[in-house]
Amino acid sequence: MQTKFIFVTGGVTSSLGKGIISASLAKLLKARQLRVTIQKFDPYINVDPGTLNPYEHGECFVTDDGAETDLDLGHYERFLNIRTSQANNVTTGRIYQTVIKQERSGKYLGKTVQVIPHITDEIKRRIRLLGETDEYDVVITELGGTVGDIESLPYIESLRQLRWDLGAQNTMVIHLTLIPFLNAAQELKTKPTQHSVKELQSLGIQPDILVCRTEKPLTPEIKQKLALFCNVAADSVIESIDASSIYEVPLLMEKEGLDRLVLKKFNFPNNTDPDLEKWKHFLSKLKYPKKEVNIALVGKYIELKDAYKSIYEAFIHAGAANECKVNVEPIHAEELIDDEACKARLKNVDGVLVAPGFGMRGIEGKLNAIRYVRENKVPFFGICLGMQCAVVEFARNVAGIKEAASTEVDPKSPDPVIALMEDQIGLKKKGGTMRLGAYKCEIAQKSNARKAYGTGNIEERHRHRWEFNNQYREMLTKAGLKISGINREKDLVEIIEIENHPWFVGVQFHPELKSTVEIPHPLFVEFVSKAIEFNSHKSSKMSDLH
Ligand code: GLN
Repeated sequence: MQTKFIFVTGGVTSSLGKGIISASLAKLLKARQLRVTIQKFDPYINVDPGTLNPYEHGECFVTDDGAETDLDLGHYERFLNIRTSQANNVTTGRIYQTVIKQERSGKYLGKTVQVIPHITDEIKRRIRLLGETDEYDVVITELGGTVGDIESLPYIESLRQLRWDLGAQNTMVIHLTLIPFLNAAQELKTKPTQHSVKELQSLGIQPDILVCRTEKPLTPEIKQKLALFCNVAADSVIESIDASSIYEVPLLMEKEGLDRLVLKKFNFPNNTDPDLEKWKHFLSKLKYPKKEVNIALVGKYIELKDAYKSIYEAFIHAGAANECKVNVEPIHAEELIDDEACKARLKNVDGVLVAPGFGMRGIEGKLNAIRYVRENKVPFFGICLGMQCAVVEFARNVAGIKEAASTEVDPKSPDPVIALMEDQIGLKKKGGTMRLGAYKCEIAQKSNARKAYGTGNIEERHRHRWEFNNQYREMLTKAGLKISGINREKDLVEIIEIENHPWFVGVQFHPELKSTVEIPHPLFVEFVSKAIEFNSHKSSKMSDLH
C-alpha cells in the first residue's frame, strides 16, 4: 500500500500545540491499527537543537540513536509509545549542511545550486525517507514555525511540489490556527485564520482540514463562516478547545472526528472504533487521584517549564500509576544558599529531584539541597548533573574529601570525583560530541534500582560529558556509597545509591526521556511511591503529636 503523507502547518501564532495535535492524530490512527510515525521539520539554521540554550527552545530531547532533537519528539514517543530517531527531526541547518557537502564533492556537476530545486529536493527527500521504509501506512510531518515566516517558505514550497509528486489522494494538509476570543466584543474572531489560510493559498497550498484552537466552543455559524472563507468543507473545520491536560486532546479530537476525516480522505476502512482502553484507563487514574504528594524540582532553568518538559511529563505518568497527584514545585537552586534556606524551602516536600544541567550556576544550591535530603532522609532522585552533585556532596560531607568537585565546576580541583573521560579531553567541537543516546547498564542485586526496574539489564539514554571518576570508586564505596549500576563496555558508573535512607538514587542517564503514558518509567514510579510513603509517615507523626 502507498504510504500516505499528512502535513501539519501552523498559522496565526506559534505555541498552538502543533506537536500535541500531530501526536493526538497519530495516536488515534494507531489505535485503529494503522502503522503511523511522526517527524518534525524545524526551520532554524542550527544543525540540531543540541547547541541551543534551554531558554531558547526548551528541552533537548535525545533519542536512542543519540540524536539531539526537538522536544516535540518527546510528545510523539510519550503518546505513541514508539521510539523515534534522527530521521524524525530535521532542521534547515541539516538540509543546507547536506546540500553544501554535496556541492563541495562536486555532485551538482557545475550547476548553480539554488533553493529551488536543490534545497527543496533535499527537503522532499527527507520528508519521504520514513515513508520509503515500507514500515508505515501514514507519515505525519509537522512543520515548525508559522506560515508567513520567511524561513518556512522552502518547506511550504516543498509541500506544494510533493502534493504533485505523490498525488493529491496520498497527501493531506492540516492547518492549525487560533480563533481568538475578544472580550470587549464577546466574540470569537475568524479573521486571523482567514488571513493565514490566504497566505497558504498564495503559496499554492489549499488546506484540507482546519484545526482551530479556541477557548470557547465554535458555533455552527462560525464553522460555516470559516469553511466558506477558507475554502474547506464545513465538516473539515475541527474545534480544538483548551484542555486541562494535553492527554485529553486525543479524546477531544476523536469526538470532533479528526481521525474519521483522515480515514475518509485516504479511503482507509472505517469499520471499528479506535482502541483507546489503556489511554482512558490512564486518564481516569490521572483525573481521580486518591493521594497527593509534593516534589521539589531543584534546577536552574526553573522559569521555563519546557526546559524540564520530559521530567514534568514523567511525573504525570508516574503519578497516574500510583493514583496520586504529584505537585511539582520548581525551586531555583540559587535560592538554596544554606541549610536555613533548604529547611524553609524543602520542609514541606515529600521528595526532591535534582535536575540535569550544565555549567556552574546553581551548583552550591544543589549540593545544599542534597545534603539536606540525605541528612533528613527525604526521598531523593538525582538525574545526570543531579547524580554528579550527589557524588560530590557525598565525597565532601561523608567521605571527608573536602575539596571534591566536578572539573566542570572547578577544573583545578585536587579531588576531581567527577571528571572528563579521555575521549572528551581537549574536544573543541561542541555540537553532537557528548556521550549521547542509549547505553547498556547492569544493575546490582538488592538495590533500589533493581527493585524499581525488576531486571538487572537495562538501556537508558545519555547526554553529558562528565563521568564518575573511577579512581575514587574504592574510596567512596568504602565510605558507604553504593554503586548499583555499571556500563560494562566502558566501565562507567551509571547509578549510585546510599543505604540507610528511604530512597536515595542518582542516575547518570536521563530516565525521563523514556517514560510514556503506557509505560511510565519505573524509577519515577518508585520515586513517587517513596514520596507517598514519606508523606504518610509524616502525617502519622503529626497525628501522634495531637
Ligand atoms: N553538565 C554535566 C555533563 O555534561 C551534566 C549534563 C546533564 O545533566 N545532562 O556531564
